[in-house]
Amino acid sequence: MTHPFLDLGLSEDIVNAIIDLGYENPSEIQQKAIPHLLQDQSDIVALAQTGTGKTAAFSLPLLERLDSNKKHVQALILSPTRELAIQIAKDIQNYSKNLRGVRVATVYGGASIFEQSKSIKRGAQIVVATPGRLKDMINRRFINLDKIDICVLDEADEMLNMGFKDDLDEILSTCPDDRSTWLFSATMPREVARISREYMTEPAEITCGKKNEGASTVEHFYSTVTSHNRYAGLKRLIDFDDNMFGIIFCRTRHETQDVAERLISDGYNAGSLHGDLSQKQRDVVMGHFRKRNIQFLVATDVAARGIDVNNITHVIHYQLPEDVEAYTHRSGRTGRAGNKGVSYAIVTGRDKGKIRRIEGIIKKKFELKMLPSAKDVANKRLIAVAEKWKNVVVNESLVDNYMEYFTEQFEDLSKEDLIKRFITVEMEQFLSKVKDVDINVSEGSGSARGGRNESEKRLFINLGEEHGLDWTSLKDFIRNSTGLGQDDISRVDVMNKFSFFNVHKDNYDRIMDNVTGQDYDGVRVNIEETKRSGRSGGGGGGRRRNGGGGDRDRRGGGGDRRNGGGSRRRSSFSSDKGGDRGQNRERRGRRHS
Ligand code: AMP
Repeated sequence: MTHPFLDLGLSEDIVNAIIDLGYENPSEIQQKAIPHLLQDQSDIVALAQTGTGKTAAFSLPLLERLDSNKKHVQALILSPTRELAIQIAKDIQNYSKNLRGVRVATVYGGASIFEQSKSIKRGAQIVVATPGRLKDMINRRFINLDKIDICVLDEADEMLNMGFKDDLDEILSTCPDDRSTWLFSATMPREVARISREYMTEPAEITCGKKNEGASTVEHFYSTVTSHNRYAGLKRLIDFDDNMFGIIFCRTRHETQDVAERLISDGYNAGSLHGDLSQKQRDVVMGHFRKRNIQFLVATDVAARGIDVNNITHVIHYQLPEDVEAYTHRSGRTGRAGNKGVSYAIVTGRDKGKIRRIEGIIKKKFELKMLPSAKDVANKRLIAVAEKWKNVVVNESLVDNYMEYFTEQFEDLSKEDLIKRFITVEMEQFLSKVKDVDINVSEGSGSARGGRNESEKRLFINLGEEHGLDWTSLKDFIRNSTGLGQDDISRVDVMNKFSFFNVHKDNYDRIMDNVTGQDYDGVRVNIEETKRSGRSGGGGGGRRRNGGGGDRDRRGGGGDRRNGGGSRRRSSFSSDKGGDRGQNRERRGRRHS
């Protein structure tokens, strides 16, 4: 028998299982890591992106080194998320299907610790665990790591990002000193280097691609829109490519849910994945996504960690991540196992600096792309509809009853007339749903640079910090009063007694009709348009506070507020509690870009 995996030193039983999985050639990380881990007992630090075949790179040599006659834990694999842990355990079961007596136990939060402990006691030699639950198990003496030979840290950077530093320190100090430690990470931040220094002995370093670099099979694009047109931009993008199967990343839980709901109500096959869902709900969504019953998974960074779904064609950044390092993890969800992938960011002018910073990290250039016009999309869809109709297999028994009636109805119409009607109906239906306007913001324009945008109005509102508001709660108040979306209100500047924000001019009447005159904590709400739309205009800066602000105060809520007095009670509108942790921290700031 000959096979490239045999040449790496793996046994036939394992290679046969790999052949059944359809692996023909080892990936770069497998080529570099497997021979080393089979022969050498030393530690390694392997830098490789997600989706490059890391799981097999450590699991195959680990299986070769296991003594399946012994029924104690010999190998520990730590993973950042439950999803990834389950995936790794499943992969190991596949790789070891021709080996006798290999048992794998999975340990993660949100499921019965007793059941997990039982499955270890049944003689698991391999435990795949998330750090939090494993630490809990160690403390409750449900697991004994005294005899482990190998400890694998998978996606070490992610584990540290997710706040598992203390748990990792505790777990690694519990493991015997003479174990081998195999650390896998996509990036090499200082904390990962510290783990390697403190808990590993002269590790060999294996690098695939360059440090911190994105997968080479992924192309990176961006389009610039105003925040008001972000959702329209997303729709143009996904409408233009029928074969898209992708993840749409949003920054907050609220936005994730919002975008998913809008897509569903617009007829797309979408599902959401975020921290407000129960584990069971998340499993259901993921199950549908894996089976491609869902075409678009709208997700937060945290919820999408560790997702391993093959053949994702697109990662779309509805908003760029707060932390630019997270971009690599997002885009790593596509372009897996050597496939091509597209990572596409929908940005506003203010994101340009971020794009440049990300380019520095991934060592690749983004390409600016114009979003297709509504007509382009309509043309494409019409061609697809024509294709579909052309390929319909006629169901005679269904058609039978209606033939006579329809033939009579269309008696006077030629084939040409029918085609014309068909095109008219399809096009009108599509164009009625989208505005045929160019939503691209050109590079040099003020709004692309984050400056003045002619389509927006900057509004003054007589509510500010003194009324217990910050930018997020002010935005929530306006949104709850008007039904506007997250992106419809931007550049919120909260001052002491009043605030400013931008809205698209189309939404101006809705705001004036629904918010002006409302009672907020004893203050009669007053909104006025300012002369200039930029942040620096309309009193966006501190100057307004001392200058024009006084006037505003007299005209608006200042007096009322004094009557409203000490009360800092917030009105009954529901605040968006949906932000992921980092986002909430961000929200405490006084200003919002
Ligand atoms: P991983 O980086 O381990 O998450 O692997 C990403 C995907 O690539 C998984 O679906 C693996 O099953 C698949 N894969 C891993 N190694 C190979 C290989 N040598 N040939 C083809 N597919 C592979």
